[in-house]
Amino acid sequence: PLYQKATYLKSVPTLALCPDNLTHEVAFAGRSNAGKSSALNVITSQKTLARTSKTPGRTQLINFFTLDDHRALVDLPGYGFAKVNVKIKRAWEAGLSEYIEKSPSLKGLILLVDSRMPPTEIDLMMLNWTQELNLPVHILLTKSDKLKKGPAKANLLKLRKLLKEEYPHASAQLFSSLKREGLIEVWNKLDEWMEY
Ligand code: GDP
Repeated sequence: PLYQKATYLKSVPTLALCPDNLTHEVAFAGRSNAGKSSALNVITSQKTLARTSKTPGRTQLINFFTLDDHRALVDLPGYGFAKVNVKIKRAWEAGLSEYIEKSPSLKGLILLVDSRMPPTEIDLMMLNWTQELNLPVHILLTKSDKLKKGPAKANLLKLRKLLKEEYPHASAQLFSSLKREGLIEVWNKLDEWMEY
């Protein structure tokens, strides 16, 4: 199980400081509170992995967790940034944009979206942007345990319809960290992107 080997490597502000030995990276992004840390912990079967990237000073950085010598999961800063001032926000957006646009080993983006809410404007912006970049996206509709089966499925189908029509580079699934639902599906997607 590759993902259980995830080990914190480092946190950097810009592409220039990213590790240069990696050939396969999958990044995780989403609005703050969407459930990104919980998902990363469950996916890697580690209770506190993502706490590392939530420690003060690291929440706005690009956090690397290596799986082996050439592959890593990358925890990107959550967006929403109500508490960050405009100057800091711009600087980090620049660092983050540069990473997503230019990292040669970035194979895909896991986008976390709360299953109870429609995708936010920033989520849609991420979809538009990744489409231009030809970067595959897989959306986890998180906290699916908070919805009944019917409405959860309805939200998924609605999103899949939107993706099929407008964002064919993206796929989607339901996910619950609490119930460990959707784990195999997300592992399969990661395997696809992480294959040498
Ligand atoms: P992040 O800010 O995106 O990293 O989000 P967190 O992983 O810290 O989760 C935000 C909040 O949602 C926390 O209170 C979590 O306990 C809760 N949460 C995360 N995932 C789930 C889930 O699958 N089910 C439920 N019911 N709550 C969740």
